[in-house]
Amino acid sequence: MLPDATVGTVDLVFPVGLSLLFIYVVYRVGLKLMLGFSRPVPLPPPPGELRKVRLTYMCTLCGTEVRMTRSPNSTPEGPKCCMEEMELIRDHDND
Ligand SMILES: [Zn+2]
Repeated sequence: MLPDATVGTVDLVFPVGLSLLFIYVVYRVGLKLMLGFSRPVPLPPPPGELRKVRLTYMCTLCGTEVRMTRSPNSTPEGPKCCMEEMELIRDHDND
């Protein structure tokens, strides 16, 4: 009876441990996704800190062009279109 009991416990502990690990991994991945979606938007800096820029971006997927005229820094992140970051095609102050 004793060896059987030991085997039974091991047989039970392994799948339970495995499913707990699985639940933990799913929980962590889900949490990361949620945090990614609810990323806080940075507060706009005071107007005096905004740089005047003249940058033209183009969407490589649909061809939309966008002119950026104001930005918190001189090398801003490009705007997004079609779920992709738009490509900087012209920097009017530095070409
Ligand atoms: Zn687009």
